[in-house]
Amino acid sequence: MDLTSGCPFWPIRDGLIITYPPLEQDVSCDVAVIGGGITGALVAFHLVEAGLDVVVLDKRDMAMGSTAGNTGLLQYELDTPLHKLIDLVGEAHAVRSYQACCEAVKKIGLLAGRIGDSCGFEHKESLYLASSLRDLPGLRREYEARCKFGFAVDWWDRKRLAAESSLPQAAAIVSKDAAQIDAYRFTHRLLIAARTRGARLYDRTRVTRRTMKPRGVDLRTERGSRVRARKLVIATGYEAAADLPEAVADLNSTYAVVSEPLMAFTGWPGQRLIWETARPYFYLRTTADGRAIIGGYDEPFRDPRARDRLLPRKTTALTRRFHGLFPRIGFEPAYAWTGTFGATKDGLPYIGAHPARPHTYFALGYGGNGTVCGLIAAEVIRDLCLVRRNADTELFRFGRGS
Ligand SMILES: Cc1cc2nc3c(=O)[nH]c(=O)nc-3n(C[C@H](O)[C@H](O)[C@H](O)COP(=O)(O)OP(=O)(O)OC[C@H]3O[C@@H](n4cnc5c(N)ncnc54)[C@H](O)[C@@H]3O)c2cc1C
Repeated sequence: MDLTSGCPFWPIRDGLIITYPPLEQDVSCDVAVIGGGITGALVAFHLVEAGLDVVVLDKRDMAMGSTAGNTGLLQYELDTPLHKLIDLVGEAHAVRSYQACCEAVKKIGLLAGRIGDSCGFEHKESLYLASSLRDLPGLRREYEARCKFGFAVDWWDRKRLAAESSLPQAAAIVSKDAAQIDAYRFTHRLLIAARTRGARLYDRTRVTRRTMKPRGVDLRTERGSRVRARKLVIATGYEAAADLPEAVADLNSTYAVVSEPLMAFTGWPGQRLIWETARPYFYLRTTADGRAIIGGYDEPFRDPRARDRLLPRKTTALTRRFHGLFPRIGFEPAYAWTGTFGATKDGLPYIGAHPARPHTYFALGYGGNGTVCGLIAAEVIRDLCLVRRNADTELFRFGRGS
């Protein structure tokens, strides 16, 4: 499946940062990671730092799957609002899921510092707008739930929004704990750091067969090479359906546009990240070089051609919406792209073991904040590999709620 098309901004801006050789010979390791996107990179880095011998395989160039299209918003909010998630999975489970994501946003910043390249990481506040008056009571409930469980949030009513911005909405939650990053660059930098610490990386190497053995897994690649590993991590993003006995996510097509550099951000309060209560939602951020990124307007995914045909129309619709919110900012589209992404029923990712796949851990950060979930996956899977206790192992397991 083509995961993205059009002109994703980051690979154009950063270029192909590094390539790796394909795997031509047989190798053995403690852990084989299939997928060199942001999730596989986070997992590989954490495993190799824990002293494990790691091999990473990707059928494309590294970071050229969905990660190439990632617009780089880092938020702790999952696709299901906290007050609704509490009804779905219970209070303790929902609150800890949100807390784990909130911690993950901060850990990503620390990690970028440790690998010596901020990759554009910047702490930001976010604004969660009421898309319509009908959404106001739900937004208020969400605000109260977040306050009750200690999340740093403020409530902006219409008057405050009008004083601070050109936004016409009736209210918004301001959240203190958000950030933004260049996820494409961060993936490459993490992989380089993993390789420096001993990981072996191979791109353009498709894994075509996995055989479970009593003491591990045996992988075959399309080049005929073989990887023997004690454990396997599947970090193949939205293409992981091939490895799972049941469907765990619905696929959507999503759209993103980056502007030409802007003279000013008039009416955009503090250049905060912005998103809204409507589903599918519209979202926005700015870049360090003075551009705006807007995205959303998702559609159920049918096939890449149908998704791609809509790109010009979606670019126009996203741009029009931007002008409605910020009439004094002259947004001119410079790059536009579309990508596929997966959403689960409860809005939570899937991380950990599956009963039908021995010796295997899945790292599937499905949902709008896949990057943040990738960090959680990396910590949980590291601890599973080390047979170390991690209280978050239960949060995102397969079979939850059944
Ligand atoms: C337009 C768009 C905007 C987004 N914006 C955001 C955002 O702002 N914030 C956010 O958190 N998330 C965002 N997401 C979601 C985000 O991109 C994903 O959550 C994340 O990039 C997924 O990373 P991944 O590593 O799991 O998957 P991928 O980047 O797709 O990596 C999986 C890798 O596995 C490889 N692979 C698959 N099968 C095989 C095989 N058989 N053998 C070898 N290799 C294989 C693929 O080649 C691929 O490189 C966005 C997604 C899109 C499409």
